[in-house]
Amino acid sequence: MTSNTTQDALIIGGGLAGLTCALRLADQGVKVAVLEKGDSERYACNSRICGGAFHVSYRDVYEPPAALLNAINTLTQGFAKAELANTMAHHAATAVNFLKSKGVRYMKVGNASHRQTTLAPPIATKGRDYWHGRGGDVMLRTLQAALKQAGGTLLINTRALNLRMAGGACVGVEAEQNGARVNLDARNVVICDGGFQANHELLKAYITREPTKIRQRNAQTAIGDGLKMARAAGAQLTAMNRFYGHPLIQDALTNDDLWPFPVMDDLCVAGVVVDLSANRFVDEGLGGVYLANHIAGMDDPLAGTVIYDHPIWEGPGKAFLTPANPLIVSNGGTVHKANTLFELAQKAGLPAAALEATVAHYNAAVDAGATAQLTPARSVTRHQAWPIRTAPFYAARLVAGITYTMGGIAIDGDSRVLDHNNNPITGLYAAGACSGGLEGGEAAGYVGGLSKSATTGFRAAEHIAANRAR
Ligand SMILES: Cc1cc2nc3c(=O)[nH]c(=O)nc-3n(C[C@H](O)[C@H](O)[C@H](O)COP(=O)(O)OP(=O)(O)OC[C@H]3O[C@@H](n4cnc5c(N)ncnc54)[C@H](O)[C@@H]3O)c2cc1C
Repeated sequence: MTSNTTQDALIIGGGLAGLTCALRLADQGVKVAVLEKGDSERYACNSRICGGAFHVSYRDVYEPPAALLNAINTLTQGFAKAELANTMAHHAATAVNFLKSKGVRYMKVGNASHRQTTLAPPIATKGRDYWHGRGGDVMLRTLQAALKQAGGTLLINTRALNLRMAGGACVGVEAEQNGARVNLDARNVVICDGGFQANHELLKAYITREPTKIRQRNAQTAIGDGLKMARAAGAQLTAMNRFYGHPLIQDALTNDDLWPFPVMDDLCVAGVVVDLSANRFVDEGLGGVYLANHIAGMDDPLAGTVIYDHPIWEGPGKAFLTPANPLIVSNGGTVHKANTLFELAQKAGLPAAALEATVAHYNAAVDAGATAQLTPARSVTRHQAWPIRTAPFYAARLVAGITYTMGGIAIDGDSRVLDHNNNPITGLYAAGACSGGLEGGEAAGYVGGLSKSATTGFRAAEHIAANRAR
């Protein structure tokens, strides 16, 4: 085992959180190295293949902090830890401005608030290579070049295995580099490894009974290494049971043209989602992220079917940039179509009389403005409930697509890792998708993967740099 010269900071993971943190540190003259397990300069990670929208709970990062705070608290139903919600609301724009100053380019895409600060150029609307030379890929290459120029180091083929602890403080990392074990010394370590979504054992412990029955809608590089290291060092873990993701058409389990896009959110939140008995089982109005979580948590995560009609297929079905209509069909998904609900049920393998009854009951509630009285209730504050009565009718089986885990290593507003008494562990930080406490809760409240990674990475760097001098 070899030992290297002491760094001021070691960053575990070269995604957006890690590179933002490293670059901000290098900029201030802090000696920093990023450990990245990927074995090429264009290593896979979620940041590289993302959609590119920097938002805070679907609001543009440049909206006033009070509006962002309100959006976070509304979407997470107050679950977000106040300190973290405040940090996001007040510092997300600062982090984006920093990235812009380093050459990361943004553009507006459409009119929706959450797409006003989207990485340029935008992702392609079809094809497996939708991300090549686009938003996230260009952003990471820009940040890698800037880090090199600022004097920071990116060590690829270097996987962190353990934190090195002394007297309760983190003093470095044990890693595997090009197949050999190395001990790396550092005054500070920042865990930025992207979460645990691709680790079936951890998924089974926290998210779903059936990890093979949810679709990995991500780069599959985040396997919970950071979480395990932090836990072994005495870190508190928080809100482990929720994830950011979307319902997808079930064929996405075997057909790579059906993930990560198109997503089924717009069809699900306008129509009804039923189980194998043709009964509704979830409040569709709570949105796609909530639906994906609910479906993943079912005894049989493959039991859900979305039912919708012609106006929904031609309206909400075409709303998104990579729309379900026509992509779920043209990319090879199985969509049943019929002129009556009875016939549709037979084609989709659902009990016909039960489906007719479910839809009739639901339509009556929509007509009466009484969807709150349905069981389960159907909320309409976020998404309008459409009646389902105009042929042709459609049915498509669903699968939950997991993008990143919301829960993880407990941190404070400076991204310092907290122990079980809420005290910071000296020298240890966590940022990005591996950090917890901001997103999740009963509503599976989503705040924003990119804004969270940039902001928490930036905050860790600020704290490390400010405390280096003391
Ligand atoms: C298809 C898709 C679309 C998305 N669209 C959006 C969007 O429009 N808006 C939005 O806000 N979010 C979006 N996201 C989510 C967002 O991309 C992520 O939340 C964010 O990029 C995570 O950044 P990160 O740096 O925390 O993790 P990552 O980007 O996953 O980077 C973590 C890095 O750590 C490395 N690593 C892991 N373990 C180790 C180890 N032991 N040692 C060394 N290195 C390690 C990995 O190889 C990886 O490079 C999307 C994600 C996907 C997959």
